[in-house]
Amino acid sequence: MSNHPENPVPFPYKYDQTQLESEAVSTGDLPEASIIEKMMQKTYDMYADLTSGEVARYIPRLADADPRWFGLTLASTTGSAFSSGDSRQEFSIQSISKAFVYALVCDTRGHDEVRERIGVNNTGLPFNSVIAIELNAGHTMNPMVNAGALATTSLVPGASWDDKWDFIHRGLSSFAGRDLLLDDEVYTSEMETNLRNLSIGRLLQSYGHITVDPECVTELYTRQCSLRVSTEDLAIMGATLANGGVHPVTGAQVVSAAASRDALSVMATTGMYEASGDWLFEIGMPGKSGVAGGIVTIAPGKGSLATFSPPLDSAGNSVRGIHATRHLSRKLGLNLFSSTARL
Ligand code: GLU
Repeated sequence: MSNHPENPVPFPYKYDQTQLESEAVSTGDLPEASIIEKMMQKTYDMYADLTSGEVARYIPRLADADPRWFGLTLASTTGSAFSSGDSRQEFSIQSISKAFVYALVCDTRGHDEVRERIGVNNTGLPFNSVIAIELNAGHTMNPMVNAGALATTSLVPGASWDDKWDFIHRGLSSFAGRDLLLDDEVYTSEMETNLRNLSIGRLLQSYGHITVDPECVTELYTRQCSLRVSTEDLAIMGATLANGGVHPVTGAQVVSAAASRDALSVMATTGMYEASGDWLFEIGMPGKSGVAGGIVTIAPGKGSLATFSPPLDSAGNSVRGIHATRHLSRKLGLNLFSSTARL
């Protein structure tokens, strides 16, 4: 009764940070390098011939992807990386950008404001659902669905739209440790077919959740989705979130440890579309996927695994990516919820 959408109950307390002198963090190590190397190759071999899933077509340019592409990279918080398959093949980051832009916005706006304005709960509905907004009294629900992602992008700092783009582009590039390039063809293709995201933007404006021009926000969001990455990039971006916001190779503090933690929390509950619960149950780590076929998964304190393979399941997650991540999560001891008895 109390959580009826028209009467949303705020989380019962705000945490007084001053009570905390220091915060404990997830620890533990990855297995040794030779084991990881072997497992990465073995996992590639196990799933390379899988043929299930469909390449996304609703953004016309994405339909040109080769369904055989399959790349894997694991990057550790100590700066090592292990890859197999097409780990250098670039693809558009798509929805995976939501997690990193969210971390950047948490870093500038802070935990409480972002939580209040964007929300952190799962909708149980598709990523571009309009019904989810209506069912929840106009609330965006979380930053990993398009409504919340558009609202998050609308909070990016900058006096002009160019400044805002610069903030996003520089921020995502700092996560990767290199200058990420825009895929113009994917960008143009999505802009030409973007009516749904534009409608979501306008609906959010009508509810007062976007206070700047929704068309510009949608354009900016589409641009952030069109940045090109490989699994080598994504894994190091994820490893930065696993490392308290510090890039394991460049040493740059890209976002604060608190912003990294906040991004990982929402990835855990909402990062894998409607299958987020299944994902957490099977894999036990925060993850975020995108319609081009990328998935990034984070083991806090240890590192990050990125996979790329374009054929998707019905929820929009890469089929080979799910299989490979589940296998590696078990083989490399990455699941956050597994433990053994203290002897
Ligand atoms: N740019 C895509 C959209 O907003 C991203 C979708 C996704 O990767 O889930 O429709």
